[in-house]
Formats: sequence, C-alpha cells, structure tokens
Amino acid sequence: MPSAVSTAAKYGRMKNFINGSFVSSESGRTIPVISPLDGTPLADMPCSTATDLNAAVAAARAAFAGWNRTPVKERVQVFFRFKYLLERDKEELTALVSEENGKTSGEALAEIEKCIELTEFATSMPQLIAGEVLEVSKGVECRTERTGVGVVASIVPFNFPAMVPCWTMPNALALGNCMIIKPSEKVPLSVVRLAELLKEAGLPDGVFNIINGDSEMVNAICDHPGIDAVSFVGSTRVARLVYQRSTQNLKRCLALGGAKNHLLVLPDAQPEMTARDVVVSMSGCAGQRCMAASAMLAVGPIDAIIERICDEARRVVPGKNLGAVINREAKERIERYITEAEQQGAKVLVDGRGHVVPGKENGTYVGPTVIDYVRPGMAVATEEIFGPVISIMRVSTLDEALAIENASPYGNAASVFTRNGSSARYVIERASAGMVGVNVGVPVPREPFSFGGWNESKFGVGDITGKSSIEFWTRLKKSTVKWNPEAGVNWMS
Ligand code: NAD
Repeated sequence: MPSAVSTAAKYGRMKNFINGSFVSSESGRTIPVISPLDGTPLADMPCSTATDLNAAVAAARAAFAGWNRTPVKERVQVFFRFKYLLERDKEELTALVSEENGKTSGEALAEIEKCIELTEFATSMPQLIAGEVLEVSKGVECRTERTGVGVVASIVPFNFPAMVPCWTMPNALALGNCMIIKPSEKVPLSVVRLAELLKEAGLPDGVFNIINGDSEMVNAICDHPGIDAVSFVGSTRVARLVYQRSTQNLKRCLALGGAKNHLLVLPDAQPEMTARDVVVSMSGCAGQRCMAASAMLAVGPIDAIIERICDEARRVVPGKNLGAVINREAKERIERYITEAEQQGAKVLVDGRGHVVPGKENGTYVGPTVIDYVRPGMAVATEEIFGPVISIMRVSTLDEALAIENASPYGNAASVFTRNGSSARYVIERASAGMVGVNVGVPVPREPFSFGGWNESKFGVGDITGKSSIEFWTRLKKSTVKWNPEAGVNWMS
C-alpha cells in the first residue's frame, strides 16, 4: 500500500514526493481517484499549487550538480538495485496497477515486466554513452562527453500507470538529470511506489520528485523557468499544447500523442494467428493502448478471417479476460462511437455495448466490438476510440489500404498480416507510421530499440525510449585540449 497517503477513501489523501519525503500539498482542491474495476474510491489526489512546484524544482535543482557529477557507472548502480526491488515487489505493483487502471492482473503483470526491461536498459548507459577522443593535431585532443540536461519534467497519461513513467525516469536519471513527474490524475498511485522503491535503492533525495495535479500543473511545468526539458505522453490535443507551450518557453520538448493504428489483412494471411493477434491488439488493456489496433483494412476476400476474428472476440469476456475502461465517461464515449457507426450504416458483428459485470456493477466495462463495413469518412474510421473496438473497412487492393492508412493524421503503428515477403516489404516501405509490424498486432519495439511514432503521434525529435532517447536526455560537451606548449600554433588556432 502506498505510504504517501493518509486516511479517507481506501488510501486517503495523497501527498507529493519532494526532496525524498512525502509532503502535503498546500492546495485545498482534490480530485477523487476511483477504481474502474468496481468503482471503489481509492484516494484523493491534490491539485498542487505553484508553491508546491517551486519546492519540487528547488529540490531537483539543488540535487542536480551532485547527481550529474556522479560517474554514470555509479548512477546506474541505483537502477540495478531498483530492478531487483521491482522484481521483489512485482505482485504488489501488479495489484496496484490493476486496481487503479482497471486492466487485468495479467496485463498489469506484463506492465511491471516491461518496467523491469526498461530499467535493465538504463543500467547499460555506461556502455552506450562513452565519449570519443582524438588527437586532432600534434598535442591537441578533441573529446566529447554526455552530461545531463538539468531538471526535466515527465508528464504521463492514465493507460500505463507504471510503464510510461519507466519510459522516461530510468534513462533520464541514469543520464544525470533530476526529474519532476506529474502522474495522471486518474492513476497517481503506482508512481508513489516507484518513488519509494527508488529511495530504497539509494537514489539521493531531490533527484526524483512527484507533483500531483491536472492541466493547471501541466501549464505551470511548461512555464517554469527552473525546468529545462519536458517530456509528455498523452493525447495529441494535449501533446500539441505542451509542445507549443514549452518550446515557446525555450525548453526542449518531446511530446507523444494519440494514435489510430491500422492493420492491413491480406487474403494469404495465416487465419488462426491473424484472428488471434487482431483481437489481442484491439482488446488488450481494453483497447486503451496507443499501439492498439483500431482500424482494419480487409484487402480483398477475407470473410473467413473476419468470421474467426468474431469468434475470437466472443471469447474475450469483460471482468474475466478483459479489464475495465478508465471511467464512465470513457465507457459512454466508446459506446457512442459504436452507435453512431451503426446509425451510419456500418454492421456491428460483435457488440460490446451495455456490459455489466455481475458483482461489479459500478465498474466501467465495454465488451470487445467488431464493426464491419465501416466507410473511410466515419468517425470510427478516423478518430482514436481508445476502447476495445475494431473498425473494418473493405478495400480491393493493397494500395487502396495504404492510401487510407497514409491519410490518417496519426502515425504510431501499422501492421500487415500476410505470408508474402514482398507484400510485407511493400507495406514497411509505404506505411506512414513510426512502428510497423509484420504478422505482429502490437509492434512495440523492445529494448534496445526505441519507441516513437510519426506525424501527429509525436512532436519533437528522437524517440522516448531506447538509444534514441539519449540525445533528448543529454547535452554533448565538446572539449579541445592542448597538453604541451610544444604543440605550438596551427592553422586552426
Ligand atoms: P491526456 O492527454 O488526457 O492526459 C495526459 C496528461 O496531460 C495527464 O497528465 C493530464 O493531467 C494532462 N492534461 C490533460 N488535459 C490537459 C490540458 N488540457 N492541458 C494540459 N494538460 C492536460 O491523455 P490520457 O487520456 O491520460 O491518455 C490517453 C492518451 O494518451 C491517448 O490518446 C493515447 O493514445 C495516448 N498515449 C500515447 C502514447 C504514445 O506513446 N504515443 C502512449 C500512451 C498513451
């Protein structure tokens, strides 16, 4: 149980984590945190104030010089220990992620496993950031070394309460930065346990801080002169705002947004595997993944595969092997999309509307939904639904499918299902997405490969994880050094 909270609800009123201690916000405004599984009130999250943020920034700034000058081989020792602690507390973390987010235990466990993998990657920073040195003329050396940017912020969404924080925190800290994280107001509890484990792992006070809040706090972070870089993961609408606001304030920013991911299914696709992977992709984490399949382009006659997809979808049962969506508002929004598509002439083959899980009447569940004969202009074809829904569009050629995929303003993922290598290559080359799959429904690259979309799924340069994140979290120091007077003066001096 998180110790950052006092009484009331299940875990009481939450505190911020500043300079290694849990401290009360001076704010009187709170937001209730409710479990989507059954409606249990979990905590009251304070909407922190500018004074709270100032305290977090001051703590991070004070810690930065010492932490950044700690050799990287020493810094990563914290993450070797943190990895062990994540393994030790895997079950407890799994339960907490599931409780606050609504995903199944299996999905929550996979999330913690991913946190462990991300932490493992951070421990390899000494190997990855070793600089270069060259004697550029007699007695004169040029060398490069990477150093932390300073105080960095991480603003995160609700759908992965532990994993998205672990996209940014281990790399950013191992690279010498101090961080202020603003969790999602819908799922602020898991990050508390991460902070406690970091402290237990020996992270110095002030290096990692939590500031709770909502959009007001996000704006304050973008504006704060003591914060050097802002990373954001969430919807495209907010990613755009955060990118514009923080770069206007001359901060570096990497802002990952929403998605509308397309699966292109060809007639030669392996039927069982395709049906299974399509359903796992659209319904896993109740469709609340930025890598979830949301639109399927059925290229040519694939009715038999669609039938199998429906059979698979019917085996996914809310409250059993399908978690809840985040709240009532999300349930209503998702169901509205389905109804609107139906009214516009699409055919709902498997209908997840109106689901109530016995004994969990206050939970917010939507069953898996397969909608066929969707036309490209419909909202279910173009907008991010963020629920366990797949919209099938029928097309005649691969080029027609690619034209629909390319027209999407997003660009996180696209996958093709086929047994033909040249069709697969054709899609890899032409899909307008940062992460492409071949016979893989959720083509998340695993470490050391980096995660990041294209187009309106990401604003900024570089990716948020893996090797590609190193440039974002560091500055490059270039030094030119003369060791002996005999080197004299040359043409460059
Ligand atoms: P969201 O954009 O509503 O919230 C994300 C963060 O922004 C939260 O911390 C929230 O407090 C803050 N926020 C919300 N509204 C704001 C506003 N008007 N001004 C300033 N800050 C604001 O996203 P969400 O609903 O928590 O998460 C779901 C979204 O995140 C989906 O669109 C999903 O695709 C996206 N996502 C993207 C990725 C990716 O890698 N591209 C990964 C995970 C989630």
